[in-house]
Amino acid sequence: MTAPARMLHLVGEAEYRDEAEAKLAKPGDAALVVRGRTRSMVMACPDGCGETLVVNIDPRANKAWRMDTRGEGLTLYPSVWRDGGCRSHFIVWRGFLIWCDRFTLGNREPRYDPSIEEAVLSAMDVSKPLTAEAIAYAIDELVYDVNRAANRLVGYGLARSWKESQTWFFVRAD
Ligand SMILES: [Zn+2]
Repeated sequence: MTAPARMLHLVGEAEYRDEAEAKLAKPGDAALVVRGRTRSMVMACPDGCGETLVVNIDPRANKAWRMDTRGEGLTLYPSVWRDGGCRSHFIVWRGFLIWCDRFTLGNREPRYDPSIEEAVLSAMDVSKPLTAEAIAYAIDELVYDVNRAANRLVGYGLARSWKESQTWFFVRAD
C-alpha cells in the first residue's frame, strides 16, 4: 500500500462532475465543479483506495462544507469523513491534509501565525463560553486557525477551555 497523501492538489475545474473527475490522477488530487458558482469538489480519496469523494460546497444544498481559498491553500470546514468504504477522515487546512483517525503519524500543520492571537483573545468573552467556530465567524478567520490560536492562549494562561458534549468551549481568563 502506498503512503497516504499529505497535501491536497487542486488540479483544475470543470462544469460537470464527470469532467472534473477525469482530471484526477493521484490520491489527494481535487477538482472543482463550477457552474455559475462552485457546486462541489471531487477528490481522489487521499488514502489511495481509488474511490472518488464528492464534497458539496454549494450552501443552497442540504449539507455543505465551507470552502475558503485565502492564503496559500484551500481549506474545507468541517472535516471530510467517509461513512462507508475506507472510512477516510481528515481535515483540509490551507492545502494540508490532516488525518484524524489513521495515518496521524506524519501529520503536518500549516505554519503558525501568532498575529491572529490578539483578535482571537478580544473576541472571547470572560463569562460567555464560545466555540472556535463562533469566534472564527466573528472575526472572519479560519476555524482551524482560531482553534489553534485559542489553545495557545490557554497555554499562556490567557484563556480557559473545556469540553462539553464533544465540543470545546473557550472563555477569556479574567
Ligand atoms: Zn479511501
